[in-house]
Amino acid sequence: MSLRDRVALITGGGRGIGRAIADRLAEVGCRIVIADVDQGGAEQAAAEVGVAHEVDALGVGANVADASSVKAMVGAAVEEFGALDILVNNAGITRDGLLLRMKEADWDQVLTVNLKGAFLSTQQAARPMSKGRWGRIVNIASIVGAMGNVGQANYVAAKAGLIGLTKTVAREYAARGITCNAVAPGFIDTAMTQALSDEIRAGLMAQIPMKRLGSPEDVAHAVAFLASEEAGYVTGQVLHTNGGMYM
Ligand code: NAP
Repeated sequence: MSLRDRVALITGGGRGIGRAIADRLAEVGCRIVIADVDQGGAEQAAAEVGVAHEVDALGVGANVADASSVKAMVGAAVEEFGALDILVNNAGITRDGLLLRMKEADWDQVLTVNLKGAFLSTQQAARPMSKGRWGRIVNIASIVGAMGNVGQANYVAAKAGLIGLTKTVAREYAARGITCNAVAPGFIDTAMTQALSDEIRAGLMAQIPMKRLGSPEDVAHAVAFLASEEAGYVTGQVLHTNGGMYM
């Protein structure tokens, strides 16, 4: 599989799953733009990815919840590399709480970063992709967007919404050679899940047929497939990457 010289932008790529996606796409030859709300983290990650895989890589500070920041993010990618071929909407946050006690601000913040962020980024990235008549958009959803989850009404609504957005973008852009798919990870070993108590982690493990949490690399391989030339006839799909936890 080769994506030599394709330009890939990964939001929230400074660490965790996004960083692993950046590494995997660089491994198959992409030029990389890592965008993260933490500008220093984005720049450092881009420098490391560039050296490790001998590709050009740019780090950009960007908040996907802010329309002007997203416009500047895509503008920086196009200015540096002259094109944008692959967008991975990975930036995401959680603000968990039971429905009855969930604060309105926590609802708004999670919907804004996880769902509106993907909308804004897709809207900007679709322009240069349309120009090139080729594009791959991969949205990082979640297993809970399909299953629901206690204590995550905001996050689940955002991830289920992201799946709806994926299918609509797939339909609107199919004729321009742009595919849009989602990867729905199960429980992956990152800072997001390291925050869970041992009891909750043990409870999760009991529900995973493969008896392990996923790794960021497990998700990155699924993303790289959907971003590949070979996946050109796959669009509007959700690729579940969860060790069999949800079928
Ligand atoms: P993570 O380790 O918390 O990384 C998320 C990254 O996104 C961080 O670098 C963070 O920056 C960045 N970010 C947060 N808000 C942002 C914003 N407004 N604009 C730009 N960047 C922003 O999380 P992760 O576990 O790798 O999760 C990555 C994606 O996978 C998320 O969409 C998450 O919902 C999804 N997912 C994760 C799991 C899991 O089990 N871990 C399962 C299913 C789906 P800072 O470091 O500065 O905060």
